[in-house]
Amino acid sequence: MHDSPGEAGQLTADYQRLAELSTPDGPVQLPAYVHVPFCSRHCWYCDFNVYERMGRLIEPYCRALIREIEDTAKVLDGRVRVGCVYVGGGTPSLIGAKLLAEILDALSVHFGFERGSEATVEANPSNTTSSSLSALVEAGYNRLSVGAQSLSDGRLAELDRLHTATEALEALDRAKAAGFRSVSADLLYGVPGQTVREFENGLKNVVDRDVDHVSAYALTLHGERAVQAGRRLGGPASDDAMAEFYGAAAELLRGAGFEHYEVSNWSRPGHRCEYNGSIWRGSEYLAFGCGAHGYLAGRRYSLVREPQAYIDAILEGRSTVQSRETLTQSDRLVESIVFPLRTRDGIELRALTHAFQFDLINERREEIDRLIANKLAELDGGRLRLTERGMILADAVALRLIPDNAGERGCE
Ligand code: SF4
Repeated sequence: MHDSPGEAGQLTADYQRLAELSTPDGPVQLPAYVHVPFCSRHCWYCDFNVYERMGRLIEPYCRALIREIEDTAKVLDGRVRVGCVYVGGGTPSLIGAKLLAEILDALSVHFGFERGSEATVEANPSNTTSSSLSALVEAGYNRLSVGAQSLSDGRLAELDRLHTATEALEALDRAKAAGFRSVSADLLYGVPGQTVREFENGLKNVVDRDVDHVSAYALTLHGERAVQAGRRLGGPASDDAMAEFYGAAAELLRGAGFEHYEVSNWSRPGHRCEYNGSIWRGSEYLAFGCGAHGYLAGRRYSLVREPQAYIDAILEGRSTVQSRETLTQSDRLVESIVFPLRTRDGIELRALTHAFQFDLINERREEIDRLIANKLAELDGGRLRLTERGMILADAVALRLIPDNAGERGCE
């Protein structure tokens, strides 16, 4: 069910419903996502909710964001606690350590976020000095995700990135030296013109920097601007080439001691991203900031996309909710198959049957037997999970496992 945008009080009602659902023993603990929409330059391939040349809005935006945190906490009245935080964007590092510290403080004061719990912030190598990184650690951030994207200067220039390969590696060194508990590097593959050898060299470089976590994403071309630019650079990589990139990443990172714990994510032992893990397990979560998406009381919602409209709504006391969708039982069943299947932990079969009266093994016996025979999946300890080989096919496999009538049940 989609509701029309701008109806005041929708989210408040959801918060209240969530508050009613909280246990008498204590507050419900949820992850929180915070969106920082500003970037120095809007890279052509990026379709996130980002804005360039809006430096004048940074301060008022952060004030509005902090007010939204306070207002939300008032409605929830101590019945939700934030267990982990992910500040993404955009380029959070662009707004500086002082404002980022204030945002985390607000979550501590109003939502009981505890120092030492996971707090991730995304950073661009162009705005990560030793002192700003130390200030972030001091503020309580303990996980840094560095958008390196490539370790080839030519490729970085083609991608519109403002940093060089050397600057990306220096940012990783500075992050380690600053004392973050986990440092992650983001890399892209399947970039027009990129070779597998070039990608492998980039991976080796970040692994040599002793990073704790690597996210490697296939470049996808969404929208006219990206398609045109991608074509100008030689067009997107073929499916076979994508599989080669992926296989190279899996092999190299396994050899370096990383665990492949989600389709696009690898970590050293003890360095999985807790925030993402919660989302993949289907946890509800709070969202703050323009264009952010949250999930509460069985409803997914998104907030007003434009920074100025978001600020205005908060200053004028209007709802920031742009859209809202109630998940049906069928939607939730599909998500409970699709998301966990992308992770190394896989689908916990008994829990799935218990929650949805859907016995996956019986309902999809032939398909699952075929996946196992082809070494694409395995049954282990009551879980169905994909093998390393099967991971790249996660989305295609999920389509074969979901119920035939998904989307038709319509019951809530
Ligand atoms: S810096 Fe990152 S978030 Fe900003 S436009 Fe480029 S890819 Fe997108």
